[in-house]
Amino acid sequence: MRRRGADGGALRSLIVHGGAWQIPDTETNDHISGIHAALEHGIACLRSGAPALDVVVETIALLEDDPTFDAGRGSVLTRDGTIEMDASIMDGTYLRAGACACVRDVANPIRLARAILEDGRAVFLAGEGASRFARAVGIPACRFEDLVVEREVLRKERLESLDAYKTRMPFDGSLPPLDRPLGTIGAVCFDQAGRLAAATSTGGAPFTMAGRIGDSPVLGAGTWAEDGVGAACSTGWGEGILREILAFRAVQEIDTLTIERRRSSGGYRPAPYVAPEGLPGLTPDIAPGRVTWGPVPPGVRDTPEAKAAKRAIQAFARRINGVGGVILLGPDGNPGFAFNTPRMARGFWIEGMGLPTVEIDPA
Ligand code: ASP
Repeated sequence: MRRRGADGGALRSLIVHGGAWQIPDTETNDHISGIHAALEHGIACLRSGAPALDVVVETIALLEDDPTFDAGRGSVLTRDGTIEMDASIMDGTYLRAGACACVRDVANPIRLARAILEDGRAVFLAGEGASRFARAVGIPACRFEDLVVEREVLRKERLESLDAYKTRMPFDGSLPPLDRPLGTIGAVCFDQAGRLAAATSTGGAPFTMAGRIGDSPVLGAGTWAEDGVGAACSTGWGEGILREILAFRAVQEIDTLTIERRRSSGGYRPAPYVAPEGLPGLTPDIAPGRVTWGPVPPGVRDTPEAKAAKRAIQAFARRINGVGGVILLGPDGNPGFAFNTPRMARGFWIEGMGLPTVEIDPA
């Protein structure tokens, strides 16, 4: 049986991350309070009846404005000293998506990704063309000075002095703690109508070549959402995540575990689904009715969602020596996460649990 709220809707949930890396002790409080504020904002949107797609945009936009995180203001610098931001968003109901990369002049790249999704002519815009599209849809230009923070200028100077710097190093622990900066952000939401949406935003990895694009704006790698199956955001070493298509694989793991659960509980029949008029390409397989439910109290680790996240990260580590993390929600909005970096900042809320939980593990 699917769990329902007092009004008959599905029980809503939201999971957020603020990057998987060696978060220094001096920065944990800022990460915790930033994620708290974003969750509270997202929860307020959900309570006011906003759909999952709106909730992930508003949650991510708040984190982009917080200079603690490597997204929007506070983004890391490239080798050229520029800021190049990437973002993506996916609607699990109709598999609509929007993504932007190498954007230098937008305060909230997630709003640009959302506008690309709504426009529908393209899924992925980069660089100059993405900026022109932003202006055309009324997203104002911002300056480098609006995005840059001193912390990142100093970090770039330190990284410049290293001879053999590689993009993987900030994640794998081979740099001193202060030079392992990454606070990419992600949010996954399940709303009262049973819809899933996921969004990711980043300034990328520090000190990369100009024009380098990581996993965050790439569908399947950084972000994936599919109603009735699951939705996920990745973070970590982008060059590895891109080849692992980590977010998609994590969602597939939920599906595998859900199918196993359905088999052991005597089978499952998806609800009949009728595509809304004018929306081509819909199939019954992605209908919101395709859900099963297991009563999972928050905090319990051994859920299909937690196992799916763990399996995805284990495979990522085994296959390509990957380092990173993933957050996800299952078909009924149950949360899961896993990471193999020293720390991952994350928080989640499920309707009925009271206050949201925000965690960073001890050093
Ligand atoms: N995955 C991002 C990238 O490689 C960075 C991160 O998640 O922290 O661009």
